[in-house]
This record gives sequence, C-alpha cells and structure tokens, in this order.
Amino acid sequence: MSVIRVGDARLPTAHGVFRIVSYRADDGHEHVAMVEGDPSGSGVLTRLHSECLTGDVLGSRKCDCGDQLSHALRSISDSDGGVVVYLRGHEGRGIGIANKIKAYELQDAGLDTVDANTAQGLPVDARQYDVAAAILVDLGVESVRLMSNNPAKVAGLSEHGVRVDELVPVVVPVHPETEQYLRTKVDRLGHVDVL
Ligand SMILES: [Zn+2]
Repeated sequence: MSVIRVGDARLPTAHGVFRIVSYRADDGHEHVAMVEGDPSGSGVLTRLHSECLTGDVLGSRKCDCGDQLSHALRSISDSDGGVVVYLRGHEGRGIGIANKIKAYELQDAGLDTVDANTAQGLPVDARQYDVAAAILVDLGVESVRLMSNNPAKVAGLSEHGVRVDELVPVVVPVHPETEQYLRTKVDRLGHVDVL
C-alpha cells in the first residue's frame, strides 16, 4: 500500500490549531491526518479514526465515534502533540454508509451490531490499517501510543511496520442509547472494557 501526500495546511478548529495533511491512497480513498507538533519519532500520541458520517457529523448516539474523535483531537492539542489519522472507507467497520444504515434497520428489529452485518452477508469488520501505517511512516512516526479500545488496531499497525508502545484507553461519557453498542463491542469484538 502506498500513499501520496497531496496537501499540507494550517487548520484552526474548535479543538485547537492543527496541521491537516491530505493523502491519496491506492485503496481508492482520500484520507487526512490532523497533526499537532512534530510527529517524527517514537511514542507519538495517535488515533486511527474510522470515518463515521452518522457519529462524526450528524451527532448520532448509536455509537461513540463523534465523542471519541473530539476526545482525540483535544488530547493531542492539550499534550505535546500527536496525530489523528482520519480513515475514509471505514464507515460501518468497512461496509459503507448504505449497508450500515441497513444494519441499523436490522438493529431496530432486534439484532446486535455484529449479527446485523453477518445477516447481510457482510464481514463483521473489513477494516485494514495498511494505509494508516503508510501515512504515519510518511509523517516520520516510528512508534505510537495508540488512543483506542480496539486491540485489532494494534495488530493492524504492527503488521505494517508501526510499533505500538502503549494502548491508551479512550474513556468518553456513555449515553443510554450508546450503551448496548459499546457492550457488544466489549463482549463480541474484544474491545477494552471502559464502561
Ligand atoms: Zn460511529
């Protein structure tokens, strides 16, 4: 997997002032990295954020993605710096927005987030982290302290040459509407239990 760096600009946000670096990857998607401080070296505070239109943009309470993204941006802004890689094409753990909403329809009928994917003949988690690793390498990141509750991301990065020094749990407020989804991620997908 290779990525091409396209743009690199200053981006003031509600969470602080960042550099935003854009990439074209041969997975057919365009991705961005939000960077605070000098990202080269080891132990860089990092989040790999999977695109979630409903959670990141629309304020959905069916998942905690929006809160996790805000938390990650604030964390790197408040610390010595770091990187949030925003991964396109990861919607619904890789099944796309249309299928994800179909999965929500099945969840409304009683299935959980795992069975709603398999009932459609879709993978439970199709996400790959080779692009994320290539972006981190391009930024000079040698190893990361990864803000995540998902051990699969550790394996995904390590496989592609970026060492994970530490898994930093992400603890965000749990809304009643989100709780069942988070519980399923712990029970069925091996996520760290921060509930
Ligand atoms: Zn989400």
